[in-house]
Amino acid sequence: MRSVDHFINGSHVSAGSRKHPIFNPSEGKQQAEVGLAGMAELNKAVEAAKAAQPAWAATNPQKRARVMFKYKELVEAHMDELAELLSSEHGKVIADAKGDVQRGLDVIEFCCGIPHLLKGDYTQGAGPGIDVYSMRQPLGIGAGITPFNFPAMIPMWMFGPAIAVGNAFILKPSEKDPSVPMRLAELMKEAGLPDGILNVVHGDKEMVDAIIEHPDIKGISFVGSSPIAQYIYSGGTANGKRVQAFGGAKNHGVVLPDADLDQVVNDLTGAAFGSAGERCMALPVVVPVGEDTAERLREKLIPAIKGLRVGVSTDPDAHYGPVVTEQHKQSVENWIAKCADEGAELVVDGRGLELQGTDGWFVGPTLFDHVKPEMESYKEEIFGPVLQMVRADSFEEAVRLPSDHQYGNGVAIFTRNGHAAREFAARVNVGMVGVNVPIPVPVSYHTFGGWKRSGFGDIDQHGPDGIKFWTKGKKVTQRWPDGTAAGDHKEAFVIPTMG
Ligand code: NAD
Repeated sequence: MRSVDHFINGSHVSAGSRKHPIFNPSEGKQQAEVGLAGMAELNKAVEAAKAAQPAWAATNPQKRARVMFKYKELVEAHMDELAELLSSEHGKVIADAKGDVQRGLDVIEFCCGIPHLLKGDYTQGAGPGIDVYSMRQPLGIGAGITPFNFPAMIPMWMFGPAIAVGNAFILKPSEKDPSVPMRLAELMKEAGLPDGILNVVHGDKEMVDAIIEHPDIKGISFVGSSPIAQYIYSGGTANGKRVQAFGGAKNHGVVLPDADLDQVVNDLTGAAFGSAGERCMALPVVVPVGEDTAERLREKLIPAIKGLRVGVSTDPDAHYGPVVTEQHKQSVENWIAKCADEGAELVVDGRGLELQGTDGWFVGPTLFDHVKPEMESYKEEIFGPVLQMVRADSFEEAVRLPSDHQYGNGVAIFTRNGHAAREFAARVNVGMVGVNVPIPVPVSYHTFGGWKRSGFGDIDQHGPDGIKFWTKGKKVTQRWPDGTAAGDHKEAFVIPTMG
């Protein structure tokens, strides 16, 4: 059986007596295993990082950028291989797996501009003979803990900026699909990154706790479910680290009466069911405003949903593939049962889907209507191919629903009315808003981050915030005396006023 190693100081290291199975969700079978390690392996990675980081930080930013340029070339050259590997462990279809790699690569592209991004500010003559300037310096060693659902994109979102600014980095990927993160680290070595700057260690809670406790790790970026995000945020900050921790989501798509419903149905089906609904920026809740909008939307949605093709992840005609594990399939089906028990109308039931010739973990597209805000199945994240329709009577109610929800990652509004869209974007209590855009993930040179239980900490991912998160700002106030000092120096006892 293939075994996935750790990647420490530029070499493969096999360790961890506890093993975690890696499945092929399309087949419902184990295909490999990964060793779950803890503090001993983390210490090795930290030692390698500590030894390598000062020289990397002292390498001029143009040379660090050249590693990023080369890396971009290599990842592009390996796109097919990476997408196939990703798809085989995660279950998303190959075209979507390529998107996963590409959205990570977009951030690497952004990091190619690191010399510009690290330029500081300078004020000449801030006081008599005084200049003030600022610079950004790396934290030293950073760590990233990533979820299963974007095994290429999210690691690159983290290690790209962290490394480009001069840090060493330790990645702890999801134990469910760790092979792509390993390949990404190997390719970094091939791109010319010195050994020890990017290390990959595998594990579960034990490894995560070791990262939270390690005194030499100065910053942690986490993406995953909200309870773990909160746990890592509290533990990491209590240990004096800088932490950003992104959690779960329940994104709403608000449909106003004047929306182009054919477009909405296209966008909604892709955003609700793509990647089997296992995206933090999926749209699992639709909020039509007014009974007439709800009826017209429902009429168009049902045939569109019934026409979706669920297939193995290598099926080029499939809209989406299996969910990640058998346990997760069970959890999604339990939520479907729960939502029906709570009194919502189960319009299309995706449970019990079996594809001939496979034992994969498939869940068919599911639609609920008349879902109410007090239902548990509305309040919690299902993270599967389940779309819940919550009918709103008014625009005000449609603003209130996502605003009052515990999660605040993304939201979308569909309308032809610019004024309504503008009002909605300004007032809704959610971090990322789409206007006729169902999955409003900002491009790499802007920043990504949700609000409320979708994001703990105040600095977002990638774009300018990514550079900020992985660096410390230093401010220098300098004076070069001209040798004419005289008098009783009384002014030295007064707080400098630059007057
Ligand atoms: P998860 O929280 O189960 O796991 C994420 C990481 O935490 C993994 O590396 C895992 O090993 C580790 N982990 C798991 N249990 C732990 C524990 N008890 N203690 C310490 N560490 C632990 O999440 P997942 O199932 O891999 O990913 C899906 C979740 O991630 C969903 O909730 C989804 O919404 C969220 N997500 C959020 C964003 C975002 O940007 N907000 C992006 C992608 C995914």
